[in-house]
Amino acid sequence: MSGPAFQRMAVAGVGLIGGSLALAARAVGLCAEVVGIGRRPERLARAVELGVVDRWTTEPAEGAAGADLVVLAVPLGAMRALMEALAPGLGPEAVVTDVGSAKAAVVTDARLTLGAAFPRFVPGHPIAGTERSGVEAAFAGLFRGHRVILTPVAETEAGALGRVRALWEALGATVVEMDPSRHDRILAATSHLPHLLAYALVDLLAGLDEREEIFANAAGGFRDFTRIASSDPVMWRDICLANREALVAMLDRYGEALAALRAAVEAGDGAALESLFARAKAARDACAAPGAGGEGQA
Ligand code: NAP
Repeated sequence: MSGPAFQRMAVAGVGLIGGSLALAARAVGLCAEVVGIGRRPERLARAVELGVVDRWTTEPAEGAAGADLVVLAVPLGAMRALMEALAPGLGPEAVVTDVGSAKAAVVTDARLTLGAAFPRFVPGHPIAGTERSGVEAAFAGLFRGHRVILTPVAETEAGALGRVRALWEALGATVVEMDPSRHDRILAATSHLPHLLAYALVDLLAGLDEREEIFANAAGGFRDFTRIASSDPVMWRDICLANREALVAMLDRYGEALAALRAAVEAGDGAALESLFARAKAARDACAAPGAGGEGQA
């Protein structure tokens, strides 16, 4: 291989995803230097200690200056202000990408703030993660074997898109492209709705008088189903706000499905229950089969 694909990568938000991307890119020699951009000096100093970034700054424009790749990896609600703050530092060739879990809102933020750099902004979302957060949770192998969805728009430059695609592919991810609103509808169904269900169930049970006994007797199924309720509350607040429309549509559909299930249970309709469970089992078995691409976020 010739030299690294990027001389200087700036990562704004050196947490689980931004930190893992920095570690992964360094591990395969894709970038010569990584600059961390963040809010809290002690967290950024920790990122240097852990070998995730080479140096850091709390000034976004200063961190973006001289970087040929800028990765935005903060919670969705912080994206617009971050873009506004770093835009003046962007060089004329700099490629910008993000990892946010909802895409139409980020594209709007970028269109409003990045000015002449907007065509070099490549919206992205790695479908990989864990329920942990912060730089300590970052690891280089996070994206290997996972899918990354890029959601370019009409203005997106082909060259910038190609470089971001090549970056993720070099980290072992499979890249697919789709329209931002299609991404948001799909992720509302596969990721955002399940997180809300897990949060709602755990919160409901935690409010019951028998909660201690309930949690003490919880089996593996409960732990599997609710693991994602340990995810970061700020991140999930922002995802719900950024993907409201698609999420409300899925919540309505789920409400109808639950009402139908409730009716079958109340009526003692074993045939209806068994046929629903059989259909769902077949669908779950098929999507979890090796090579079926059923990997998910968190
Ligand atoms: P994380 O581990 O909590 O890291 C977030 C980083 O953003 C931290 O370094 C944090 O800095 C910084 N930050 C938080 N609020 C900020 C603000 N208002 N202004 C500037 N910086 C701020 O979160 P993450 O899981 O990596 O998520 C980052 C992005 O990736 C989110 O947009 C999320 O939607 C997306 N994503 C997450 C997953 C997942 O499973 N976790 C998967 C795919 C995509 P401090 O340490 O100073 O707070």
